[in-house]
Amino acid sequence: APRSAGRSSKTFSIAPEGVEHALTVAVRVRPLIGANQDERSDILREMDKKVVVVLDPDSEKSYLDSVQHRSKEKRYTFDVVFGKQSTNEEVYDLTVGRMVADVMSGRSATVFAYGATGSGKTHTMVGNEHDPGLMVLAVTSIFRNVRSMKQTDGEYTVSCSYLEVYNEVIYDLLVQKSTALDLREDPNGNVKVSGLRSLEVSDVKDIMKLLETGNARRKTESTKANATSSRSHAVLEIQVNHASRPGVHAQSTLGKLALVDLAGSERAAETGNAGQKLRDGANINKSLLALANCINALGKATGGRSLGYVPYRHSKLTRLLKDGLSGNSRTCMVATVSCAAHVRSLPLRPEQCTISGHRLGQCCGRAGAARGALGTGRGTAGDACGSDPPVI
Ligand code: ADP
Ligand code: MG
Repeated sequence: APRSAGRSSKTFSIAPEGVEHALTVAVRVRPLIGANQDERSDILREMDKKVVVVLDPDSEKSYLDSVQHRSKEKRYTFDVVFGKQSTNEEVYDLTVGRMVADVMSGRSATVFAYGATGSGKTHTMVGNEHDPGLMVLAVTSIFRNVRSMKQTDGEYTVSCSYLEVYNEVIYDLLVQKSTALDLREDPNGNVKVSGLRSLEVSDVKDIMKLLETGNARRKTESTKANATSSRSHAVLEIQVNHASRPGVHAQSTLGKLALVDLAGSERAAETGNAGQKLRDGANINKSLLALANCINALGKATGGRSLGYVPYRHSKLTRLLKDGLSGNSRTCMVATVSCAAHVRSLPLRPEQCTISGHRLGQCCGRAGAARGALGTGRGTAGDACGSDPPVI
């Protein structure tokens, strides 16, 4: 049965309690703000009226995405649905919060928000002073964990790096004027950004400061669709190094948590972009599509079958995230959606037309497939999963 998540009545989860998936897919609906407030409704209309998205938190359907000129409705299942009243903390508790213990014990995890420009990705990942986002909440929790460790547990060191991928070029956000950095892969397939600064941090304030200066260095560009939309993908990586007490079984582990604030995607015609901006848009979409393709492949791969081909190499972003997206890691996607008229998605063919436009439904289908095959979730998604999003 749907489980209530926190205070918000518009939030619920359909994932059974205690079940941990390699891939978690959540959706978060942004409230309407300012001039758009009179549009307040649970029925969200957007994208030239081609798509009507209905959030139905009172039923188990969780999310329904219907393309009007098709006779068939498409429905997608999410592990967690966060309504308009949801707070970053609620989102944190049911997503990243469940991965921190793994990171502490040496596993890798990746979390990102995925959605159109203006749908709330930065709000969710970075947040602000009053409503800190997943990045800050994750760090806070890691430090809380470190402090609660006993001396006999060994020693923990926490470091972090912060970079952006802009136009398929990597820049260090922790240095004043970063040059383009190279992505290297050693013979074992470990990915490393050469020259990237990694700073040891000892409390939350350190990270807050790093985020603040780093964010000010990010490439933002005003487009017609959104006043300050980020043109780059920002990746905060938190490394947790654990060295056990010296002795016969002394060992050390390195856990990594990558938190990604993705750039949005908007159509060229709507944003009035040309030249450089148009090129940025093309590169952003290239990375997002590559990411979606990796997630799709992973959803398939974690279904107990042999690990299939995961197309990491198609963009800088996916090469960079390779470790945190691979077999033994945990991945969480928070799809952000909004009904505000200015929040648009990519123009895709109707069969691809989903919430954010990036075959998101298919991603979710794969996630469902993984769960179905693992026998831990609602198997129907897996059964229905073909090349098309599942119809449940
Ligand atoms: P994106 O990063 O996806 O382009 P933003 O996170 O910048 O979008 O959100 C656009 C605007 O909407 C910002 O002013 C942000 O503060 C606001 N916003 C987004 N999500 C929420 C939310 N859940 N609650 C309140 N305000 C939000
Ligand atoms: Mg943003």
